[in-house]
Amino acid sequence: MGSTINFLGRDSGFGDNNNSGYIEIDNNLLIIDCGFAVFNNIKHKFDFKKYDNIYVLITHPHNDHAGSLSQFILYMWFVFNIKITVVTKCETLKQILDLEGTIDSIYNITDNALGIEFIKTEHVVQFNSYGFKITANDRRIVYTGDTCTLDPFMPYMDDCDEFYVDTSKFGGVHLKFEDVKDKLSEIKAKGVDVYLMHIDDYDYIANLNNGEFYM
Ligand SMILES: [Zn+2]
Ligand SMILES: [Zn+2]
Repeated sequence: MGSTINFLGRDSGFGDNNNSGYIEIDNNLLIIDCGFAVFNNIKHKFDFKKYDNIYVLITHPHNDHAGSLSQFILYMWFVFNIKITVVTKCETLKQILDLEGTIDSIYNITDNALGIEFIKTEHVVQFNSYGFKITANDRRIVYTGDTCTLDPFMPYMDDCDEFYVDTSKFGGVHLKFEDVKDKLSEIKAKGVDVYLMHIDDYDYIANLNNGEFYM
């Protein structure tokens, strides 16, 4: 099933490929999250020079979502002379980038780009975490980021084509798939394509969901 977001990885924090993806919108590249494994995945993947703008959306500062952002910013500037734009609502991200020695004149940072609407959710107490809504390639997309609740996203479900949702076996600061499976089936029944991501145990999800990672 063709999702508009191309996954670079859909593993939880201890997996090999951090949960992340990309969309090409007009002649722009939007990368969603940039965890510690992402830089090595993307550095030879794209012809960066061909894009008008490169955006990296960061949902929250955990290492599996922002761990190679500084490296990517430095690489884009010093190798390609491209200033990327970080799109985030995370209050501490600029400070983290500063502490990592990311020169602030070599990137842009904003919470307002590509019509993205951030949706504040619940994940951990140490900082705020955000999902978002974007309309891209005529598809209305809602993405939870890491979350332990579906509540902030439910008001968007009547107006959504694709829903990307954090689902795990462990639960805790994430959604436990068994706890939300029925709700996700109801969302699917409204005509929304539901994609499962940030997966900590593929066998567990597959066994509960006919071997599939979408609904
Ligand atoms: Zn995560
Ligand atoms: Zn997280």
